[in-house]
Amino acid sequence: ATLDDLEAAISVCRACDRLVRWREDVAVGKRASFAGEPYWGRPIGGWGDPHPSVLIMGLAPAANGGNRTGRIFTGDRSGDWLFASLHRVGLAVQETSLHAGDGQRLVRTRMVATVRCAPPDNKPTTDERDTCAPWLHREVALVSDRLRAVVCLGSYGWDAALRVFREVGYDVPRPKPRFGHGAEAVLVAPDGREVVLLGSYHPSQQNTFTGKLTEPMLDAVLGRAASLAAL
Ligand code: SF4
Repeated sequence: ATLDDLEAAISVCRACDRLVRWREDVAVGKRASFAGEPYWGRPIGGWGDPHPSVLIMGLAPAANGGNRTGRIFTGDRSGDWLFASLHRVGLAVQETSLHAGDGQRLVRTRMVATVRCAPPDNKPTTDERDTCAPWLHREVALVSDRLRAVVCLGSYGWDAALRVFREVGYDVPRPKPRFGHGAEAVLVAPDGREVVLLGSYHPSQQNTFTGKLTEPMLDAVLGRAASLAAL
């Protein structure tokens, strides 16, 4: 199957009852500030270069962010932080990501969500994570042939990356490398290529409002990814 086939299949997935209800309820209920806008209210696909050097692994779309705009990290505060930093290090052509027709473009970079539908409180269950995992595996298998770096947002993204890359045939270090901001681990692709896993605190408001994640901290990790992408 091609990436287009995969994206078409993901966009109509209804495998998780609770998440299907939530993504659609949010779309019907709509936060007052977005009341006049159409909501996507469906699973969101990966976005960016189909053969990227850098893959960014997020958790799941935000109810009024990706679930509204249909594009990952688009139209919410986490996305504002992430894109401003991606732009500063040269991996995005604009500093904002507002809506699907805003002209934003990722440079040698692709973004994927580990779980494709918005979960209540941004917390998917373990069952929901496992139900969605085959979509991630199929996408990674299709897009990872030129990969040099994987930026994992939060420990959830880190653990998901370790699982999925092992399953698609990469050598993954044992014991499991520990997540932390700035943590690195080297994975070896079936063709011998080294791919560096980079840990970053998630640019959630919980982390950015409290100063746990600062702009220089995020720029350092994404800048490292950009320099690996230039190899
Ligand atoms: Fe399907 Fe994944 Fe959405 Fe569950 S979270 S309904 S598996 S796309």
